[in-house]
Amino acid sequence: MSNELEGKVALVTGASSGIGEATAVALGRAGASVVVAARRVDRLAALERRLAAEGVRVLALELDVTDEAACRAAVARTAEEFGGLDVLVNNAGVMLLGDIEGADTTDWTRMVSTNLLGVMFLTHAALPHLLDRRGTVVQMSSTAARVGRAGTGVYNATKVGLNAFSESLRQEVTARGVRVVVVEPGVVETELREHITDPAGRAAVEQRIAELRQLDPEDVAEAVLYAVRQPDHVAVNEIMVRPTGQTW
Ligand code: NDP
Repeated sequence: MSNELEGKVALVTGASSGIGEATAVALGRAGASVVVAARRVDRLAALERRLAAEGVRVLALELDVTDEAACRAAVARTAEEFGGLDVLVNNAGVMLLGDIEGADTTDWTRMVSTNLLGVMFLTHAALPHLLDRRGTVVQMSSTAARVGRAGTGVYNATKVGLNAFSESLRQEVTARGVRVVVVEPGVVETELREHITDPAGRAAVEQRIAELRQLDPEDVAEAVLYAVRQPDHVAVNEIMVRPTGQTW
């Protein structure tokens, strides 16, 4: 285990699977104390055991990021347990694809509440700590913030919104030492697509990626680590990483 991030405290949302889990592992192995947060506590408990066995200081926290009070409590608990917060990874997200016409609008509420409002609540709660420790916020955006397409409109809207929010945040806090990092992955092999409720929306994405060698979650975790391990005067503000075979 390298100790590059020794003394740093990271809070990773959506750490029960996929990119969040891989990122928590990478940060922990680099020496950070890690708080892993999500709704599926059984998955978090397994991750907690795995990291603790490697000597990582880790705490699992049940968190639904759509609940503002729970976001505040998660940040407070992190600071209480580990003495502060240096790295907030806003990774929790859902991608409930489908056409706008005839959509189940509860999918829209879930996406906006999770991908946008959840990030905003957590960022707001974490900011005093991040300003105090000249910390870093990592926003898990997507190539969907750059390229809109039929059948993905609301997901696109949440990620475009996330980028806009992040750029405002960057301008507000960067001169005070807080770095804002927007990570925009292309297609990553995770559970994300399994939660799509619209069969046509799910079929369209499955068809689009059928032949693609997707990124592994660890590939994205490496990108996060690259940004987080930079010296204080270097702000990596945006990283886009696609599978080589992804043409869109
Ligand atoms: P996963 O489905 O594997 O992970 C999503 C994570 O978000 C899970 O840990 C889930 O945990 C958590 N989550 C969902 N809703 C909530 C909630 N309300 N409160 C707290 N946690 C929540 O997919 P990925 O790893 O792929 O997704 C992670 C991020 O990466 C997302 O923001 C996604 O948009 C982004 N992304 C993914 C890409 C891909 O191709 N996979 C490409 C570009 C970006 P739980 O259910 O336990 O709460």
